[in-house]
Amino acid sequence: MRYSGLKVISEGLFGNRGWKPAWRDPAPKPAYDAIIIGGGGHGLATAYYLAKNHGLTNIAVLEKGYLGSGNIGRNTTIVRANYLLQGNSEFYSHSMKLWEGLSADLNFNVMHSQRGLINLFHSDGQRDAFARRGNMMISQGDDAELLDREGVRSYLPYLDFEQTRFPIYGGLLHRRGGTARHDAVAWGYARAADRRGVDLIQNCEVTGIDIAGGRVTGVQTTRGPIRAAKVGMVVAGRSGQVAAMAGLRLPIESHVLQAFVTEGLKPVIDHVISFGMGHFYISQSDKGGLVFGGDLDFYASYASRGNLPMVEHVMEAGMTLMPMIGRAKVLRSWGGIMDMTPDGSPIIDRTPVEGLFVDAGWNYGGFKAVPASGWCMAHLMATGQPHAVAARFRLDRFATGHLLDEEGTGSQHNLH
Ligand SMILES: Cc1cc2nc3c(=O)[nH]c(=O)nc-3n(C[C@H](O)[C@H](O)[C@H](O)COP(=O)(O)OP(=O)(O)OC[C@H]3O[C@@H](n4cnc5c(N)ncnc54)[C@H](O)[C@@H]3O)c2cc1C
Repeated sequence: MRYSGLKVISEGLFGNRGWKPAWRDPAPKPAYDAIIIGGGGHGLATAYYLAKNHGLTNIAVLEKGYLGSGNIGRNTTIVRANYLLQGNSEFYSHSMKLWEGLSADLNFNVMHSQRGLINLFHSDGQRDAFARRGNMMISQGDDAELLDREGVRSYLPYLDFEQTRFPIYGGLLHRRGGTARHDAVAWGYARAADRRGVDLIQNCEVTGIDIAGGRVTGVQTTRGPIRAAKVGMVVAGRSGQVAAMAGLRLPIESHVLQAFVTEGLKPVIDHVISFGMGHFYISQSDKGGLVFGGDLDFYASYASRGNLPMVEHVMEAGMTLMPMIGRAKVLRSWGGIMDMTPDGSPIIDRTPVEGLFVDAGWNYGGFKAVPASGWCMAHLMATGQPHAVAARFRLDRFATGHLLDEEGTGSQHNLH
């Protein structure tokens, strides 16, 4: 079924009885050409582009819970292309271009809103670093503008510019940055993949990976064994556990990241604001809630909820930056399991097992990567070759030392 304004009006007039489920609920077949483990944003996008770009339709996405139950439905929805290093910048630039046509491509409104992202800086040295980053963004074909203090004030007059610890010197404005509705992205890709014949199988946990003679032959699941010559592991925070089923040890640690939302307010924050020195960022959702978050909880864990010290830290940072939000009531907080790599950059690559591929290591930034990650993982699984914009996301870089360390913090998973 194609969604359109006309369809909405006609369904409204006739009692909304003609809508069909957005995707089928098929039983797993005994065999597929390719299996994607994980029905998050990256897994669903991989399946969609395998079908759309490469004509592969005998595909299943196996999801242990329900579609969108993982990080894709838990993130703070920021979309940006503001990377410094070659290897990352062309990938996120590609992703941004896909975002810009995504609703039309999927025939589903993902509520992509290019409201502009402002990264604040608080010293001369930090300004120089941001100027360098902005120049790299522009040379990559993306947008960046360096704002001085008055420039920031003209957009964000409600910030406390004089706070003693981190007075605001200016900001880097990335106008094409913004937000999208996280679960709409999962639903949009799911529906579009289903329309192309992909089987989306929920409540189907992969419990083993079958290998014979160094080649993958299928998977064991809670709904029985399924054969496939190609298997993609796209399970974000569970990457270490799933890779271990194939006898692989990934350079990934899983850490908790929390986020928060307030009661709905009238429009007050019309940009995404990032206060890196305070480990705090904030935007306002289309429903009116202030959506904000901070840093990792700093210990490795598979729990999807965090602890109080980080709650306190985030609230303090928010109050420091914009004391006005102290009147808002926080409604909910939640956590997600982050797949952190030692250099903060992802992995889209083959593994030592023939036919087994990995897409992982998205750290805290994998939402904005969903379109390009799906595009590149599909390319890799279909052709056996890395896509040009993801050619640096190799698994062996941690052995060879060709790291992509955007933050320059060294090889410590929880510092990226
Ligand atoms: C609080 C928070 C804020 C964030 N903010 C941002 C942001 O603003 N911008 C941004 O770009 N990124 C952000 N991120 C990161 C982003 O959400 C993730 O990097 C991205 O969603 C991960 O990819 P995914 O969508 O495929 O993961 P997931 O949605 O977690 O998908 C993985 C799926 O695999 C399934 N799975 C696991 N094991 C198995 C198994 N054995 N068998 C079958 N299925 C399995 C899981 O159930 C899950 O559904 C944030 C994350 C969090 C938690």
